[in-house]
Amino acid sequence: MLPAGKQDEGTMARDPRYDILFEPVKIGPVTAPNRFYQVPHCSGMGYAMPATVNAMRETKAAGGWGVVCTEYCSTDPSSDDHPYPHCTLWDDGDIRNHAAMVEACHKHGALAGVELWHGGYANGNYLTRAVPTAPMSMPTWHGLSQTRAMDKSDIRDFRRNHRASALRAREAGFDIVYVYAAHGYLPAQFLSPVHNQRTDEYGGSFENRARLIKELLEDTKDAVGDTCAVAIRFAVDNLDVDAGITFEGDGRALVEYVAEIPDLWDVNIANFPADARTARFAEEGAQESYIAFVKQVTTKPVLTVGRYTSPDRMVSIINKGLVDMIGSARPSIADPFLPEKIRDGRIEDIRECIGCNVCIMNNGHGSPLRCTQNPTMGEEWRRGWHPETIAPKGGNGKVLIIGAGPAGLEAARAAGQRGYEVALAEATAELGGRATREATLPGLATWARVKDWRIGQIHKYPNVAIYRDSALTTEDVLEFGFEHVCIATGSAWRRNGSGRSDYNGFAGWEHERVFTPDDVMDGTTIEGRVVVYDDDHFYMGGVIAEALVARGNDVVLVTTADNVSPMCQGTLDQGRIQARLIDIGVELVTAHGLVAFDEDNATLACGYSGRQRMIACDSVVAVTSREPSEGLYTELAAVPERLAAAGIVSLKRIGDCEAPHIIASAIHAGHLYARTLDGQDRVLRDRVVV
Ligand code: ADP
Ligand code: SF4
Repeated sequence: MLPAGKQDEGTMARDPRYDILFEPVKIGPVTAPNRFYQVPHCSGMGYAMPATVNAMRETKAAGGWGVVCTEYCSTDPSSDDHPYPHCTLWDDGDIRNHAAMVEACHKHGALAGVELWHGGYANGNYLTRAVPTAPMSMPTWHGLSQTRAMDKSDIRDFRRNHRASALRAREAGFDIVYVYAAHGYLPAQFLSPVHNQRTDEYGGSFENRARLIKELLEDTKDAVGDTCAVAIRFAVDNLDVDAGITFEGDGRALVEYVAEIPDLWDVNIANFPADARTARFAEEGAQESYIAFVKQVTTKPVLTVGRYTSPDRMVSIINKGLVDMIGSARPSIADPFLPEKIRDGRIEDIRECIGCNVCIMNNGHGSPLRCTQNPTMGEEWRRGWHPETIAPKGGNGKVLIIGAGPAGLEAARAAGQRGYEVALAEATAELGGRATREATLPGLATWARVKDWRIGQIHKYPNVAIYRDSALTTEDVLEFGFEHVCIATGSAWRRNGSGRSDYNGFAGWEHERVFTPDDVMDGTTIEGRVVVYDDDHFYMGGVIAEALVARGNDVVLVTTADNVSPMCQGTLDQGRIQARLIDIGVELVTAHGLVAFDEDNATLACGYSGRQRMIACDSVVAVTSREPSEGLYTELAAVPERLAAAGIVSLKRIGDCEAPHIIASAIHAGHLYARTLDGQDRVLRDRVVV
């Protein structure tokens, strides 16, 4: 028996309209304690960092998620996504590591699920060097190789391995075992008339293409179905890739065909860039219209994802009969305690996901998960950080934090939570720094959640005083009389064009019609035809171009990269950004640097040939790199004897004023500052020791 669920605890203050979210849901032979379901999501940790990943999953269970799942978990060495971290269920060692996760989830009353995975032509098999296999011979996603078309014995081996993996999952104690036919992986490839052009009984007709999915469901039910729920994760539509699967065609047909075989339908749209769209391109609940049919054709519980952070929206999609459970990946990363906060009637404490996909980007880098909103994500084991609790203060020193951007706000919030007396001084009337400013740009409104949540929390701490319109100088700091001084003064976009590929910038940058993203965010009037010069390569170049088009400018985006906003490959929206810019009429000039601007023309140079050409323009907006606003820090650091005389025992700089980076890093820096105000940063390493 599993321990009792959490649905009856602490419900005193809960709004009764949310009661439905805390009803248990029967899933085949097991029962989830509530409707909060953390769907499988990548962690950047995988089999190589079991302590790190298990502690992260346990934190979700502790926060009230009724079901907590692994990320994609390879069935056998023929499916290896190296260097992208993923789980494995290949051997006894894997069983032990997963059992520790399962036990940790059960301790908090949650069910544990595992997503058995075979990538098919997604696999490069860089680690195992196994020949990648797929329905037919085709180039792999990330590799140089082509796949071998699976013959009958390959299919038999795959089914045997999948079954063996399911049995290992049961041995590890998992409650839910997945057949994973979404996101373009092997079972989905078999269903696709594009990726499967076989002529045997696994190709051709719908029944033939659906055969493998049906067999896997039946195999898994047969192997573990008496004690484990068998779930299917299925993409009902391929939004971006023409795989021949639509929610009105074969996507729907598949659900109808095997409707009652699985114990649970976890449905979405594929591939990842469609499923996990950023807030710039998809609202909360963006998949609802695609999956709406599923509950009409199966009696089994259904769930989907949609970056749900609003409990009212959750209740509404259940009441409307769209889903039975609320699937969540990103909202559970941004706030592992989201269910508990709803349960306890603390809606205003929910730390809402902003839909930036920084979490996903890090998995793509092979680095442990991190999150813009939740600085403790990925640090649960390594640093021992809990998302909700923090050690009380370790001394009576007062803390002066200068700059209320993401770094300063988070430092003030967390130090305030620890009980320190904190003064937060902000030069302007607005709190939030770049989070507030960037939220005014097209598609970035959710960025404001970064400051809204922190300001809301800070208001609960009487020990944190906020001073707006307070641009502090060195003398102000010395007079303030606080023992700890934290400089979080941020950075400003450079005007001279010094950037990622050209440190020297361009000639003519001193002209008054050269602007920066800060000018655009300040609402400065920029006239005529504008060259947006992107040598930064993340989202800002494309966003500024979009903002200027909305203001009526004729815009040319010149970038040193080969495509627009290439770093947004990691956040999965590069393709959408480029498509949108083309759509709204931005002229794109790629692989060119800006050499000079003379107020009538911009001189561009091809990054490959060096060949130059001129284009007419009235203004330039340089989106290249940022200058740390470190003046206050360097002035103070230069007078240690005056600091000592003023009673200042620590002086630190954090966030963009130390080194400009993404908002997630500023939040992390602020959090780290507050955690280590009175102690050392303690970081464990998750690794095998021989
Ligand atoms: P980060 O991302 O590191 O938090 P931001 O640029 O978003 O950096 O925020 C820095 C904040 O610091 C801005 O709101 C800015 O107005 C403020 N600031 C800069 N210099 C001072 C100063 N001398 N005194 C008070 N606030 C300052
Ligand atoms: Fe949401 Fe961004 Fe955090 Fe991912 S990194 S969970 S998208 S806030």
